[in-house]
Amino acid sequence: MSKTDIAIIGGGASGLMAAVAAKNEDTNVTVFERTKRVGKKILATGNGRCNMTNTGAGSKNYHGKDPSFVNGAIKRFWVNETLELFSELGILWKEEERGKVYPYSDTASAVLDVLRRRVERTGTEVRCDLDVKSIEKKNGKFIVRTYSGTEDKFDKVIIAAGGKAAPDLGSNGSGYELLKSFGHKITALRPSLVQIKTDTDIVKKLKGIKIDANVTIGRNSSRGELLFTDYGLSGPPIFELTSRLNGDKTIEIDMMPDHTSDDVLNIIYERMAYLYDVPLEEFFTGMLNKRVGQALLKSVGVAPLSRESSSLTEAEAKKIVSAIKGWRFNITGTMSWNNAQVTKGGAETAGFDSATMESKLIKGLYACGEVLDIDGDCGGYNLQWAWSSGYIAGKNAAMS
Ligand SMILES: Cc1cc2nc3c(=O)[nH]c(=O)nc-3n(C[C@H](O)[C@H](O)[C@H](O)COP(=O)(O)OP(=O)(O)OC[C@H]3O[C@@H](n4cnc5c(N)ncnc54)[C@H](O)[C@@H]3O)c2cc1C
Repeated sequence: MSKTDIAIIGGGASGLMAAVAAKNEDTNVTVFERTKRVGKKILATGNGRCNMTNTGAGSKNYHGKDPSFVNGAIKRFWVNETLELFSELGILWKEEERGKVYPYSDTASAVLDVLRRRVERTGTEVRCDLDVKSIEKKNGKFIVRTYSGTEDKFDKVIIAAGGKAAPDLGSNGSGYELLKSFGHKITALRPSLVQIKTDTDIVKKLKGIKIDANVTIGRNSSRGELLFTDYGLSGPPIFELTSRLNGDKTIEIDMMPDHTSDDVLNIIYERMAYLYDVPLEEFFTGMLNKRVGQALLKSVGVAPLSRESSSLTEAEAKKIVSAIKGWRFNITGTMSWNNAQVTKGGAETAGFDSATMESKLIKGLYACGEVLDIDGDCGGYNLQWAWSSGYIAGKNAAMS
């Protein structure tokens, strides 16, 4: 019996996992990768540590036109199966706060190394520096053509080409064009897990300052280290919230999340008594970041800052409390694809079988990872989707 020839377009997280799952004695597997090396993006994940999954991952952590599409993967190959496979490949892992899982060595390169080792040892052909230009199905075979002029025939094709986020790391949106050429629909695309742009008059002056804050956009909140930048706001809570941005216009920052508004008002009155002759520009020293405190006073119209602290009126004290507990900034947009970690939107999942990742339009065509209209929250969820959908696509493509 002749072997099934499988092409995987993209040597990223989902493509490498698909290769691991697809290779067996009855298959020939070829990975096409447009950059010089596979897995460039894996190396950049989790600030070089690779937040490889999240033990709490469930459909609630995913977004898209139909987030329930991930249930197909949840039932078949999810967090436990993924961690078992990585353990088998050599990754000792550890769980950190909020279910985030990292390799014990704290190195993303280890995750790539074990995947590459398995792929190489099982005889998968990895063809780097080959950018797939088009795929055509003719007489039951897929013809894969590259910009370098190569042309090869395969029985099955898995599109694992990623989205549009972080194009420096390889994914440039070409997977959407390949799927469109087979009649698949692509939903609106926008950057996610990305910094937020705001009015810059205040944030620009606070550039580089980090504070612990609870950040709220619409009905969603996230607490963590918030970073002021010259264009707006960054840091883990911002990344976390952008996955749920929905045309929201304002962002609110609670700089004393462990205290109620009444607590904060009492603290202000106490400080007015203790620090009665201290100028307002020094009022927050020891309570909030000094420059943040000064900017906050200006933003609520308390002036001049040379006034003594005891001169604060009750109305001013209340305004200050409101700002500490909910400093508002207008959202003007997000940073671009170059800064984004993930793509929101992608190939409509209605065109695929969630149990196999096979196209409902073209037999033998599969898609996995970020190219599909599924994006996850910040915290290991996106890689989990890439591992699971890649594994399922690979296993099913290998079944003739
Ligand atoms: C800086 C950064 C940090 C991140 N950190 C985390 C994290 O810690 N945890 C987490 O869960 N997620 C993280 N993510 C998101 C996660 O990395 C992605 O969601 C995941 O890698 C998507 O996997 P993928 O295989 O679908 O796409 P990719 O990993 O983007 O791989 C696609 C591959 O296909 C190749 N390709 C594209 N088009 C073609 C073509 N036409 N021909 C040949 N090859 C092609 C690309 O070069 C690329 O190598 C991070 C992302 C970034 C950018």
